[in-house]
Amino acid sequence: MRNLLALNWKMNKTPSEARSWAAELAERFEEGDAELAVMAPAVTISTLAANLPAGVGLGAQDVSAHDSGAYTGEVSAGMLADLGVGYVVVGHSERRDYHGETDAVVAAKAKQAQANGIVPIVCVGEKLDVREKGEHVAYTLAQLAGSLAGVGADVVVAYEPVWAIGTGKTATADDAEELAAAIRGALEQQYGKRAAEIRVLYGGSVKPDNIASICVKPNVNGALVGGASLKVADVLGMNDAL
Ligand code: PEP
Repeated sequence: MRNLLALNWKMNKTPSEARSWAAELAERFEEGDAELAVMAPAVTISTLAANLPAGVGLGAQDVSAHDSGAYTGEVSAGMLADLGVGYVVVGHSERRDYHGETDAVVAAKAKQAQANGIVPIVCVGEKLDVREKGEHVAYTLAQLAGSLAGVGADVVVAYEPVWAIGTGKTATADDAEELAAAIRGALEQQYGKRAAEIRVLYGGSVKPDNIASICVKPNVNGALVGGASLKVADVLGMNDAL
């Protein structure tokens, strides 16, 4: 299975900055073994659609749980699909923490994405206190079950231990594999044979110098990258390492 390198810009880059980033990438990018996709702020998506080099996918960072109508400020999956978006991150820990998103909301968003031909990247992962109690596997699998309730198999799962996001603390490759294998087992129970085609990503302070050692693990099929997605040089470094 081809690794997916999903670049989560978070709330960074204006449309002008996105255009410059895409131009710099286009000058230096050579498609390699991994699939590359940018999870962009909604207002930069049109600019990226027009400027990303061929072979680089386009994603969004969030989507409404609703179809259309009186939901001021929200962006629907149909709107994203119309712009050529192929992936959307749902259930990122920042949205769960700062916007109170529950597993049920995450599942509703994932279903909206799938209904519009967009592959949801469903994020799960424990906080430090849960890991210190040794409950990280059970916690993450419970979160996964709720977040995938009624969701089809055309999905990507990102395991992101919250204590490793943006902190410079990376889980060890063995920690990542422990959870990726547990997630794969749960996916097998839910989706049967199709689970073998579902990519399980690791996210949390991934950089050019640690990505290979994590993605080489048998159940890890790529990375969701925040901080190291902002500079083209880092993106090229990670792409080359995979
Ligand atoms: C993320 O945004 O999902 C993430 C993993 O961020 P960082 O790579 O900066 O830890």
